[in-house]
Amino acid sequence: MSGNSKNKCATFQELIDARLDGELAESEAGPLDAHIASCAACAEEYKLALRLRAELQALPGLRCPDTVTERVFAEVAPPAPARMKGFFAGLFATPAGRLRFAAAAAAVVILEED
Ligand SMILES: [Zn+2]
Repeated sequence: MSGNSKNKCATFQELIDARLDGELAESEAGPLDAHIASCAACAEEYKLALRLRAELQALPGLRCPDTVTERVFAEVAPPAPARMKGFFAGLFATPAGRLRFAAAAAAVVILEED
């Protein structure tokens, strides 16, 4: 393989992703397809890119390990029950507190309706 054809292959291989995304113009896709049909290295590269895509799409949604989830919840967890009681007591102690709670509850309802 000459250095020249290697460069040509590299150029074609850079287009493979765009080709799979349907982002190539006909004027680029045509020569790329023709090259892939006649170049084993690029055909292999194309097959790999296709397979990678299929495998990525077949992956289930990414899921955090439970240990990470637990640590995140520990960070953002609501206050302990005793503090929670005081928190709500304070919340309802004043009309302004009740109003804020009502506004927060309304916001939750609005968010959940989406
Ligand atoms: Zn090639």
